[in-house]
Amino acid sequence: MKTTQTIAAIATAMTDSGIGIVRISGPEAFDVIDRIYKGKKKISEQPSHTVHYGWIKDGEDTIDEVLVMIMRGPHSYTGEDTIEINCHGGVYVVKKILETVIKNGARTAEPGEFTKRAFLNGKMDLSRAEAVIDVIHAKNKYALKNSVSQLRGAVQKKIGKIREEILYHTAYIESALDDPEHISLDGYGEKLVDKLDELLKTLQKLMKDADNGRMIQEGIRTVIIGKPNAGKSSLLNALVGEERAIVTDIEGTTRDVLEESIQLNGISLNIVDTAGIRKTEDIVEKIGVNKAKDQMQDADLVIFVVDASRELDENDFEIIRMIREKKAVVLLNKSDLETKISKEELKQYLDKPMIEISAKEEEGIHELETILKDMFFQGEITFNDEIYITNIRQKEALGKAYESLQRVKDSVEAGMPEDFYTIDLMDAYEALGNITGETIGEDLVNEIFSKFCMGK
Ligand code: GDP
Repeated sequence: MKTTQTIAAIATAMTDSGIGIVRISGPEAFDVIDRIYKGKKKISEQPSHTVHYGWIKDGEDTIDEVLVMIMRGPHSYTGEDTIEINCHGGVYVVKKILETVIKNGARTAEPGEFTKRAFLNGKMDLSRAEAVIDVIHAKNKYALKNSVSQLRGAVQKKIGKIREEILYHTAYIESALDDPEHISLDGYGEKLVDKLDELLKTLQKLMKDADNGRMIQEGIRTVIIGKPNAGKSSLLNALVGEERAIVTDIEGTTRDVLEESIQLNGISLNIVDTAGIRKTEDIVEKIGVNKAKDQMQDADLVIFVVDASRELDENDFEIIRMIREKKAVVLLNKSDLETKISKEELKQYLDKPMIEISAKEEEGIHELETILKDMFFQGEITFNDEIYITNIRQKEALGKAYESLQRVKDSVEAGMPEDFYTIDLMDAYEALGNITGETIGEDLVNEIFSKFCMGK
């Protein structure tokens, strides 16, 4: 998969801004810039990692005043000769410069093509390349921390180590089978099972942490549930800090499902506000209630809002039954009014963390933040040695590797001949290679990078 063409793209956002950057990468990057740059010196004769002031010209037309940055391969992001033209950030001028670059020998880059080249040229493994996109999409401090740790090679290192161990054992078995006189497999099965147990445990932890990883990266899928008028919309508004949901006194006005992503101390909650659960004949409202039930099935977290100023009724009890098995927090709302239900009373029916709040007065919200952190991340999210695999593709590969290693263990325990082990060991090795990109096909590579943004 050697790259020969020179590619170019606008690397900055397509909106008027202070600076715009056009990036060129490939074997002819210097030829292209020499044709269009006018300054004191010829760019191709300058040393790598220097910056040059001058003008971009399209024939006789002067287009813009620029700074040109030079990075010679392999010491560049893509590993190829790379030029970055920093120009003024108007949409028209940046486009015009790209057009001139294209006219003078480069072709437009596809989305993610710069990073794809970095991967193909061995500048980074696939887990690091995918982390690039996660850094760009990071929406909170933990998501950013996690992506940066992957960008620095945390996943690559961990997976690389597991693969090395698998390869060592495969090689050992194969040499022993080839040369039974000198290498003995006596008692080897037991040793292998110990090793497999250790690897299976590591993979299992990675898979378990992956769920946390998704919640860190994308947010905790949260559903707010409660009977009409309990204060769900008011709560959402208090959390969001702006009037997003419609709040009224008429029961059943929240008919549609609203979605909102909010930040609580670095955790993102993707909140779905649902129509109040209640037995209803109104068709529109019924759809809303069914949707609420559906939404709850996939939720990571249910926030149950109880109107504490009213007695519990059959609607509340229906919700209590529905959420018994879910991760949930109960909010006893309207604490500013005279209350008819206490935490103690509710605890008899539902054993979940409970907080008294007033959505209207915005009281108790901070306590909710603390409880959520405890529930999901045992109070703290640390990055000491945890790796949060957030990528679904990577998670699937972990699952496959786990199954293959489990099969090896089964074969050993069933007393199967040793050559059975190596097939499954190699399957696990291959599956893990998918994460780092060492055993991945061209189609998949193309698909992964096509999800990137232009100019990256
Ligand atoms: P929803 O149907 O569950 O979404 O409930 P709403 O958020 O629309 O609230 C219903 C009514 O209860 C509105 O009149 C709100 O102003 C009121 N309400 C909501 N939260 C509180 C609260 O904490 N205290 C008081 N006193 N009223 C509240």
